[in-house]
Amino acid sequence: MTLQPNALKNLYKILYPKNMSNQLKIITAKRAGFCFGVERAVDMAFITAQNSSNVYTLGPIIHNPQVIDKLRSEGVEPISTIESRDIKVLIIRTHGVPREVLETLSRKKFRVIDATCPFVKKAQQYAKLLNEAGYQVVIVGDEEHPEVKGLMSYAGNDVVVINRAKMLPKLKNKVGVVVQTTQPLSLLKEIMLDMLEHIKEIKVFNTICNSTSLRLKETKTMAKAVDMVLVVGGKNSANTTQLATLCTSMSVPTYHIETASEIREEWFSCVRSVGITAGASTPDWIIKEVEERIKARGGRAPNGHPNKGRNKRTRKTLC
Ligand code: SF4
Repeated sequence: MTLQPNALKNLYKILYPKNMSNQLKIITAKRAGFCFGVERAVDMAFITAQNSSNVYTLGPIIHNPQVIDKLRSEGVEPISTIESRDIKVLIIRTHGVPREVLETLSRKKFRVIDATCPFVKKAQQYAKLLNEAGYQVVIVGDEEHPEVKGLMSYAGNDVVVINRAKMLPKLKNKVGVVVQTTQPLSLLKEIMLDMLEHIKEIKVFNTICNSTSLRLKETKTMAKAVDMVLVVGGKNSANTTQLATLCTSMSVPTYHIETASEIREEWFSCVRSVGITAGASTPDWIIKEVEERIKARGGRAPNGHPNKGRNKRTRKTLC
């Protein structure tokens, strides 16, 4: 069947009404962006920069390259080693550092500002308490993550790190558990079920930070209600990546971007609602830029949705 030009025009009008870009619904998650611990640490760094020179952070203070660049422009430089540096102030980041490192630093001549998140500190104290009470400490988390490295230093020599269920190593009969603050509750539950089958005495401190679980929960609800999700934050940020993985696993077209400049017009084809979420290390100004970019975008890409066919879930879209 060949459609006459007028009929084609009408069909196009139905499919792509003039104000389509204005009709695009944008839902930004309430919990998108800085969590309490990150905001506290970043504020500490900016305030310190105003009052002191030669300010350094031991490692990047958060996993967000844009914030690191901004801090650098204010005179706060991330370093991986304190050797051959003229340091006046050294800031410890939210993840914390191993106990021995903190002790060594406190003996140095420069000032140390400990910006370790109080929730991470609490997990460290629990690990210490369990070890002192004779429990073999199990940390649920990623062994390579700096927060876990810090926790391990409080947990005694027989500490074990586990990051998946059904792969329990040989453990003692009295086990104490703490969790990397950003791990999902589902993983802790799975590991606990597994442990209960093998171990007689288990004491658990659920040290998962509410901020992470609530953010994941909110993102999950939001992802169910939109046609596409933009996850904003550092590509090196574990919790931002976790959000992107969650949305992708729900078969929602999902894009993990660091800044508004990465947004592509073709993503919006067949999309009437966009959800924006962001990791704990993403500053407000980047989230706002993303919102503004979507609001300001003109027209819609005519075709070629990149996720066409990938989304197996039945969604109400224009395509
Ligand atoms: Fe602290 Fe939670 Fe933020 Fe981690 S996610 S820095 S534990 S508030």
